[in-house]
Amino acid sequence: MNLNRQISIVFASLLLSSLLMGEVSAKPSEGVPLSKDVAKPSTANILQNPPYLPILSKHKALKHLMPRKPLTPQQIKIAKEHGTEAPFSGPWLDEKRAGTYVCVACGHSLFAGDHKYDSGSGWPSFWQAVDDAALGTTTDTKLGMTRREVHCANCKAHMGHVFADGPQPTGLRYCVNGSVLQFEPKD
Ligand SMILES: [Zn+2]
Repeated sequence: MNLNRQISIVFASLLLSSLLMGEVSAKPSEGVPLSKDVAKPSTANILQNPPYLPILSKHKALKHLMPRKPLTPQQIKIAKEHGTEAPFSGPWLDEKRAGTYVCVACGHSLFAGDHKYDSGSGWPSFWQAVDDAALGTTTDTKLGMTRREVHCANCKAHMGHVFADGPQPTGLRYCVNGSVLQFEPKD
């Protein structure tokens, strides 16, 4: 091996290292803990591109899904493939007790019974998440319209959508598939 070839190899290695390092340092952080002093969510910024909620891609949704117990085919279709249960077919529609609704895949707390209401839509509906760290959102352009899709912020399982026609004080309607919720009563 002559000197020129050795020099070329050294330069190529340095270039590759700097590229890799650049890529690593430029990679956006994900799952940044949500500060408690951020502004309270408003209808406008939740439905647009809220900076205080992690924005999750469909790819990450599949990659990070970590079921704590085997999911049923129906739950897999919703959680992993962004499916929707038929209206009035899922559980928890008439549940009115105090308690917490958690992600069926990982147990992360998502909604409180106190924030549940009857929207008449056929899906469990809430006017806010249990806290700012509960959910992530993405933009869903299926069905020829733009909707805000909501995911479990912990495991990225698809939950449903959030709309701007909910009751006060938020004006939001989290329309959630009951099949991917597990209810844990307070008592
Ligand atoms: Zn989850």
